[in-house]
Amino acid sequence: MGEVKGFLKYERLELKKESVKVRVKHYNEFSKPLSEDELKSQGARCMDCGVPFCQSGCPVDNLIPEWNDLVYNNKWEDAAERLLSTNNFPEFTGRVCPAPCENSCVVGINMPAVSIKSIEKAIIEKAFEHGYIKPKLPKVRTNKNVAIVGSGPAGLATADQLNKFGHTVTVYEKNEVLGGLLALGIPDFKLSKNIIARRTDLMKAEGINFKTNSNIGVDIKISELQDKFDAVVLCGGAEAPRDLKVEGRELNGIHFAMDFLKQQNRRNGNRKISNNEISAKGKNVVVIGGGDTGSDCIGTSIRQGAKSVINLELMPQSPKERASNNPWPEWAFIDRASTSHEEGCEREFAVMTKAFIGSNGNVEKLKLVRLKFGHPNSKTGRREMTEISNSQFEIEADLVILALGFLGHQQNNLLSELKISTDQRSNVIADNKYMTSVDGIFTAGDMHVGQSLVVRAINEGRNVAESVDMYLR
Ligand SMILES: Cc1cc2nc3c(=O)[nH]c(=O)nc-3n(C[C@H](O)[C@H](O)[C@H](O)COP(=O)(O)OP(=O)(O)OC[C@H]3O[C@@H](n4cnc5c(N)ncnc54)[C@H](O)[C@@H]3O)c2cc1C
Repeated sequence: MGEVKGFLKYERLELKKESVKVRVKHYNEFSKPLSEDELKSQGARCMDCGVPFCQSGCPVDNLIPEWNDLVYNNKWEDAAERLLSTNNFPEFTGRVCPAPCENSCVVGINMPAVSIKSIEKAIIEKAFEHGYIKPKLPKVRTNKNVAIVGSGPAGLATADQLNKFGHTVTVYEKNEVLGGLLALGIPDFKLSKNIIARRTDLMKAEGINFKTNSNIGVDIKISELQDKFDAVVLCGGAEAPRDLKVEGRELNGIHFAMDFLKQQNRRNGNRKISNNEISAKGKNVVVIGGGDTGSDCIGTSIRQGAKSVINLELMPQSPKERASNNPWPEWAFIDRASTSHEEGCEREFAVMTKAFIGSNGNVEKLKLVRLKFGHPNSKTGRREMTEISNSQFEIEADLVILALGFLGHQQNNLLSELKISTDQRSNVIADNKYMTSVDGIFTAGDMHVGQSLVVRAINEGRNVAESVDMYLR
């Protein structure tokens, strides 16, 4: 532990950001790194509290107090080694993770938590910059082959781990680009795509085979993979979008969030997009859904030059501070305005969309109603929702983006050919070794647990790789 009373001496520092005025003119990342001295003092704020709640708050059990201390002591290469021992891709989580570790940091009980995420990002960026990260090929190959379907963070983590264990890995990806939602969902201003390419290039140099434009179940049957490989791991994500089936849904100008985000990510990468271009330029945009996906649509709409952006959320606004029934070290259910929200959108909470109204086949307005919520039900914890009488109102919209979450895996032949079992939420059912209802076929990530977080997908990938390794041995 660096400084015994560091947390009393130094204040928490956030990454500095470009001003809103500057950053909305481009799609690049806009946070600036802290200086080495600043990072050192941030590392010194870690109390090495004995029971590292941050570590158990982190889905990949990052050894946070250890690398905080190594950064404080200027041992960056050692810090990178410790970080990479639990997290395959800290360059992704250091940018997009909501940092559950910081929610459970002991300093966070009564003062701002240690800036764990900023330190994580700095360690991995320094490691790449100083050449600490070089392709490491396994010393021995096992002569076992594994096919992985999907190249999101779950598929990539699975591939990375299995390759380290010496197995020969081939990743099949239906899109033209690797990375799953990191590449085509999350915008460049949160995660630059060259960060993904830097990692996948390294993985290629370490011997992992990647096959893009390979839709399993369409271009290649899953039974062919079953015949050719010793094990198959399905990491196909949870892509089926939740729809809003109200009056007027058929009008032009109403789109699913991923259709909108994928286009902009492809445009930024100078890649082909469909003829049906969706643009927010000069439009009154309404984004329905207050999560990460909705927030990414807001930032993208603003950069495209929207006239106005309104974000609608069904649930009431969360409190600014933890409620008494939501104590540390739990995840804090507080209002988190994202950087995209800061860029100029109006937020409406506790409203429900009753209908879309339009003329000549195009959407023009939304009919909304305000909601009130009762006390949480003692059994389910859910709060009963009722419409407030005479609270209907309308707002203008030329473009409506539906960011209402996802309903499991997009159904196709990938699962049906071998009758792989799914649950009521369309998630693939697996046993505690991550094996599906079919012997030798495993699953991980959002396809297994439903739409979640990058860090959880990495954790799932690491776990399934352990199980596949045991199975093959
Ligand atoms: C817009 C958006 C923003 C998000 N922002 C954040 C964030 O800021 N922080 C965070 O932690 N999480 C965020 N998430 C959630 C996070 O991205 C996911 O939880 C994570 O990517 C899941 O990883 P995965 O590998 O399981 O699936 P995915 O990333 O969905 O990858 C699945 C891959 O499988 C491929 N695939 C599917 N079927 C086939 C097939 N039949 N053949 C071949 N390939 C196939 C898909 O094309 C895709 O590339 C966000 C999600 C969305 C939608």
